[in-house]
Amino acid sequence: MLTSVNPATGETVARYDAYDAAQTSAIIAEAAKAWRAWRAVAFVDRAAVLKEAAQLLRARTDELARLMAVEMGKPVAAGRGEAQKCAWVCDHYAEHAEDYLAEEVIATDAGRSLVRYEPLGVVLAVMPWNFPLWQVFRFAAPALMAGNVGLLKHASNVSGCALAIERIFADAGLPPAAFRALLVGSSQVAGIIDDPRVAAATLTGSEAAGRSVGAAAGKALKPSVLELGGSDAFIVLADADVAAAAGVGVLARTQNSGQSCIAAKRFIVVDSVHDAFLEAFTHEMAQLVMGDPLAESTQVGPQARVDLREELHAQVEASVRAGARLVLGGSKPAGPGAFYPPTILADARPGMPCFDEEVFGPVAAVTRASGTDEAIDLANTSSFGLGASLWTSDLVLAERLASRIEAGAVFVNGMVKSDPRLPFGGIKRSGYGRELGALGIREFVNAKTVWIA
Ligand code: NAP
Repeated sequence: MLTSVNPATGETVARYDAYDAAQTSAIIAEAAKAWRAWRAVAFVDRAAVLKEAAQLLRARTDELARLMAVEMGKPVAAGRGEAQKCAWVCDHYAEHAEDYLAEEVIATDAGRSLVRYEPLGVVLAVMPWNFPLWQVFRFAAPALMAGNVGLLKHASNVSGCALAIERIFADAGLPPAAFRALLVGSSQVAGIIDDPRVAAATLTGSEAAGRSVGAAAGKALKPSVLELGGSDAFIVLADADVAAAAGVGVLARTQNSGQSCIAAKRFIVVDSVHDAFLEAFTHEMAQLVMGDPLAESTQVGPQARVDLREELHAQVEASVRAGARLVLGGSKPAGPGAFYPPTILADARPGMPCFDEEVFGPVAAVTRASGTDEAIDLANTSSFGLGASLWTSDLVLAERLASRIEAGAVFVNGMVKSDPRLPFGGIKRSGYGRELGALGIREFVNAKTVWIA
């Protein structure tokens, strides 16, 4: 049984019977069959389906935002933005997939030699609850446009979202078996990856889940992409626009109620601007409106589950015990729901949970650095390497420093964000492989060499 619980109230939203082994196997069989037909469909016809999916996402934006709000607590205004962004990624790949996958003629000793990008088959996507639509569409749009078919094992608390996505593709004209939700628990995932009819797997989620999916894919000798956690640095140098950095920093930390892999988590601020930054940042964090995710004015909703809120609070308490200074928030509100207030921990240092671990909630760790070099060293003192945000008015220096930062992306004077046109992914324990852009659509294809004498 998979259960969706409203994290703002604690009430059960819906219960879903998990699929048994026979149902799962039948869906995989249908998907494998659907692939043989879908791979032969012309780009222009695949694009028409994706364009229609984009239209449906726009038409259903309000109901999708509401569904996310009740299943995982996302404020509706943010939910509507997420649905629109999914429409964008569908449009993007509908318009660009053919170019991204155009065959390349390469001069060799052959009469003609070329590389072609051909689909692999059934791809299993294991997805998290935090962006219940976006994570799925950023996998599905390129995978489907490349001629693959998709199976979605979504997080167990967002089965309603999983089924809504399945419906969007079916209503858009995709052969229904070419994109199916598998309502199964995580214990079924390794077996599905091992199934000979499944060609590849992608996971967005925690490190623990990544290890498990990566191991299963390795054991079955199948390609995989892992998009895992992060502890992104937000580096403020001495010549930065401190007010702008503080304002953007608040959004970068608290987007999605702090539950984003690319949220800024460690604010590393050079000594000369540290106090001014902390003051402005604290002032703005304190203004945030926390409350009912169905209310238009809400900026910070509840955490997605009560157990996750408890874990978050334990990280805050352990950090304070280790010497971090609580500047804002830090206590659980009374009453129902999984709410946690915007929180700031100053004097954060390596060795504290708020610096070393991924902190998945609206809790900012602020660290003082003696200068630019120490700031970059501290940013790299992390087992994660997803994104980083760098604030300075010296753009030449910024480009040079970007090479020294160990991360999959560096954003200068802006917050880290995903964009269908740009590759997205991490290094170190943030995972491997890339999504989005031209690189993303090439993850699940066979780059086939054709050599003709
Ligand atoms: P999670 O607990 O790892 O769950 C993610 C998905 O993996 C769910 O579908 C879950 O299923 C499944 N899963 C869990 N353990 C598994 C296992 N041992 N084997 C196979 N599948 C397993 O993560 P989450 O709490 O939903 O999401 C938060 C995490 O995702 C954070 O660490 C965040 O940073 C990361 N994330 C990364 C990115 C990125 O692009 N790098 C983007 C968003 C989120 P059940 O729900 O059934 O357990």
